[in-house]
Amino acid sequence: MDYLSEKARRLEQYVAGMQPRETGWIKLNTNENPYPPSPEVARSLKNADLARLRLYPDYDSVGLREAVAWNFGVEEENVFCGNGSDEVLALAYQAFFSGKGNILTPDVSYGFYPVWSRMYDVGEKITPLRDDFTIGADDYKRGNGVVIANPNAPTGIALGVPEIEKIARNNPEGVVVADEAYMDFADRADVESAVSLTAKYENLLVVRTFSKSHSLAGMRVGFAIGSRTLIDGLRRVKNAFNSYPLDFLAQTAATAAILDRDYWNETRRQVIATRGKTAARLRELGYRTLDSQANFLFMEAKATKSAKELYEYLFNNKILVRYWDKPRISGFLRVSIGTDSEMEAFIKCVEKQTRPR
Ligand code: PMP
Repeated sequence: MDYLSEKARRLEQYVAGMQPRETGWIKLNTNENPYPPSPEVARSLKNADLARLRLYPDYDSVGLREAVAWNFGVEEENVFCGNGSDEVLALAYQAFFSGKGNILTPDVSYGFYPVWSRMYDVGEKITPLRDDFTIGADDYKRGNGVVIANPNAPTGIALGVPEIEKIARNNPEGVVVADEAYMDFADRADVESAVSLTAKYENLLVVRTFSKSHSLAGMRVGFAIGSRTLIDGLRRVKNAFNSYPLDFLAQTAATAAILDRDYWNETRRQVIATRGKTAARLRELGYRTLDSQANFLFMEAKATKSAKELYEYLFNNKILVRYWDKPRISGFLRVSIGTDSEMEAFIKCVEKQTRPR
């Protein structure tokens, strides 16, 4: 018997990177942070009043929204929190794009965007990256909406704030979603969060996550910053779907994490430093990487061994990276930045594969 609805039958599914159950893997496939969350997170969870788990959590995540607002210098009413940025993005698709066409999005970007488009009957207008894999800000005009990741994934390439402003200005009829999952790993002077533009552009929604720079992927916390109008739109859909998307422990942990700015800064800087060293070592071995502002590198395979073969070689050596058999990117591997010693092991393995003895 086939019990599926017509809609469920037509759905595509996002394929997440492997989460192996056994130990011993060097896991560079899902852009997790190699460092543990702030010690303040452990402290906050240890001190949490577990008797409160009897109660439903704060459905509006007020304490967490206050902490996020403090961190970004915005008002609490400009912040929306969800169960991972995946949920925040899915709610944005429903609130602003469902049933509409001409929603501009790159051909190479986060693999979940086309999945939500299918799910929520969104007509995507695929807007190809330029030949050098950059997002051409001038290519995004007069859409009923725009969805981009900045820095983009899996390329790691970022746009500067003036280019995001141009996109927000050139699409006044639609919501512009800037998915900044990886923004905290940017170190180029012109690359910064577009949060500062949200006061000026009512249509600009910046989406962020605790999964990467705050080392809390296992907690599932994401948020959006934008105008009252956009935040009310997200809340409207959320309250028709799941009143309590963030549990009490997740709110507690995320609040502690964002308040510990020193730890956040120290760990993200370490990731940026390791990224630089890894890119330099790959270059020495003759591998090109794109200019990453994220916690991963997008490296091009060489003529001698395909990306798929290199992926398999690494896999057989218990090193997990990401490979997609997709147009334009099937010659690349995406490698998350781990600790220095994990990246040394990765480089050694690549080196062995490159120069077999
Ligand atoms: N946006 C991008 C570009 C991502 O790569 C990811 C994580 N893979 C997400 C959003 C979702 O992150 P999370 O749901 O963990 O917040």
